[in-house]
Amino acid sequence: MTCLECGIGQMEPSRVSLTGERHGETFRVDMNGLRCQECGFETVDSDQSVELTRLVSDAYRRAHGLLTGREICEKRGQLGMSQEVFAEYLGTGVASVKRWETGKIQDRAMDELIRLKTDARAARKNLQSLEQVALASQSTAQRRKTERRMHPPAWTSHRRLRRGTSRHSINPEYVSALPFAVSSVEAGYNSTLGSRTAAATGGSASF
Ligand SMILES: [Zn+2]
Repeated sequence: MTCLECGIGQMEPSRVSLTGERHGETFRVDMNGLRCQECGFETVDSDQSVELTRLVSDAYRRAHGLLTGREICEKRGQLGMSQEVFAEYLGTGVASVKRWETGKIQDRAMDELIRLKTDARAARKNLQSLEQVALASQSTAQRRKTERRMHPPAWTSHRRLRRGTSRHSINPEYVSALPFAVSSVEAGYNSTLGSRTAAATGGSASF
């Protein structure tokens, strides 16, 4: 095959270094391809272009922490599933599984699902983080309970205050300062406490 670039040299099988683009990013990959003996132009034939697509996609997936096509294929193999069974297992179409394995990039949500359904370690880690979330929310509830006890809402303290306004807690000096009607009632209560209260209330004690 004559070189498309210089039109002189012959394209010979060789290791080549080519670049490809995925989602606006460029990746360089090394692979078997064709190289011009005259000008050094490098390319791939139609069969090799499939491999080029897969390699560039895998470079993108490695760079972004996603499973490569080969890794997806391996995980499926470890479960002994065909592409059809694997697709059903993930709740997706078999065409998707075929494309991922040959170079189409799976989205992050699907990548996460594949890991959770094929990797016991990933599933265990997910379970642990779920348990931690549950524990954290439980301790938050516990913390709120304690806070309520330490700082009761206004209505509670109000109620306690009202309940506390018994004849036992009222200061006799205040009672004597109160208008007649109130002080006489309170003094009447206070008089049941004994002579100490009666003496302290002074003039009101006579009511
Ligand atoms: Zn050439």
